[in-house]
Amino acid sequence: MAAAATLQFLGAAGTVTGSKYLVRHRGQQILLDCGLFQGLKELRLRNWFDPAFNPREIAAVVLSHAHLDHSGYLPLLVKRGFRGKIHCTAATAELIEVLLPDSAKIQEEDAERANRDGYSKHHPALPLYDGKDVKEALRLVETHPFGKSFDVAGEMRAEYRPAGHILGAASIDLAIGKRDPVRLVFSGDVGRYVSPILRDPAPVPEADVLLVESTYGDRLHMPDPLTALERVINEAVHRGGAIIVPAFAVGRTQELLWHIRKLEDESRIPILPVYIDSPMAVEITDMYCRHTGEHNLALTQLAGDDCRIRTHRQVMIHTVVESKALNPLDEPMIVIAGSGMVTGGRVLHHLARRLPDPRTTVLIPGYQAEGTRGRQLEEGAKSIHIHGRDVPVNAQVVRVEGLSGHADQRELLRWLSGFQRPPAACYVVHGEPPAAEALSKLVAEELDWHVRPARDGEIVDVVKNAEWPS
Ligand SMILES: [Zn+2]
Repeated sequence: MAAAATLQFLGAAGTVTGSKYLVRHRGQQILLDCGLFQGLKELRLRNWFDPAFNPREIAAVVLSHAHLDHSGYLPLLVKRGFRGKIHCTAATAELIEVLLPDSAKIQEEDAERANRDGYSKHHPALPLYDGKDVKEALRLVETHPFGKSFDVAGEMRAEYRPAGHILGAASIDLAIGKRDPVRLVFSGDVGRYVSPILRDPAPVPEADVLLVESTYGDRLHMPDPLTALERVINEAVHRGGAIIVPAFAVGRTQELLWHIRKLEDESRIPILPVYIDSPMAVEITDMYCRHTGEHNLALTQLAGDDCRIRTHRQVMIHTVVESKALNPLDEPMIVIAGSGMVTGGRVLHHLARRLPDPRTTVLIPGYQAEGTRGRQLEEGAKSIHIHGRDVPVNAQVVRVEGLSGHADQRELLRWLSGFQRPPAACYVVHGEPPAAEALSKLVAEELDWHVRPARDGEIVDVVKNAEWPS
């Protein structure tokens, strides 16, 4: 019998950020994901605490995908002494080469601004990590194709399976032990089955212990985001105001462009200027064009004027000066800018300028975590705090849910139905408590599995026949 392995939930248990799972087996320790806590202040503060392990003793990190809530703690791990390998897919490696330096830059700029304007409670305000830490981290990256298992540490081997969601995103299939290994599977973030760009999430045949995400574990997406998007855009044009879209540079931006282009081609909306105010989004759209193996678009649909992830009057904004030049424009237009949950980035300037104007529309295309300005807007806040001052919200705020990169409740169940036998234990992670509980209940009812939400900080056994206390 294989020596018992254990698993500890160190983030994304009861929340959607800070994804971090510590696996211990025969003196070896590895992390599945290494994400940053985002959103609520009490969560963000956790990034500053000493972790529950010694980073020097971690042999390797296996990343599911590039989003910062799954990868953004890596530079800090390295700053604190980690020297092992960082495993990921090729597209994830390319993405974190862009996302991690950007994360460091945002933190350095925020600290700088807080010091300059004196609105930080800390003196001096410090960034969590800087560009140097990011460089060190990127040096440790090792890439792997989907479907080919690789050594992680000791008797642990992993294999990536496509999860949809964003470019490079994977479920992690970890085999622990030499003979008759125990299978620990982490879903990663599961994508949608109707994404216009990415392929469907792939099924995983079996798991002894399964971690499944539950971001939308209690919700169903709108069947047709195109119609909703069409209505929102036409109403905004009618009012004569701008549409501001806070969007992640990875995934959301590309799918939005695809949808807007389709509406333009079908003459369902007027052709508006679409400003992509994110050099990162520009770079990442290029990556989508290179990694054709991961999506449904043919190369011919990605080239020249025919490119489906480009609108007819698209303008790429590179510099801050160009970004500020949008401020005086007073006409219907679409501005797509990060960050996706309005926690930082250039979207803040656009919102500070346009939220007081009742003609403005804020279009929310993706999940907004608790404690973010995006969530406050979504919940109808009368004013939000930007760069040390309160900005009144007179704009219309609309959520178009079908544009999300996450599977909804039914789609999660569809992914779970791909397992050929029930796992001995299934833990629901990466969801706020109501979502995690709703999914857990549904899986218990429909699939009759041993399932419950994971508890933050708890340690569970990774064995073939888990005791399941009722
Ligand atoms: Zn994600």
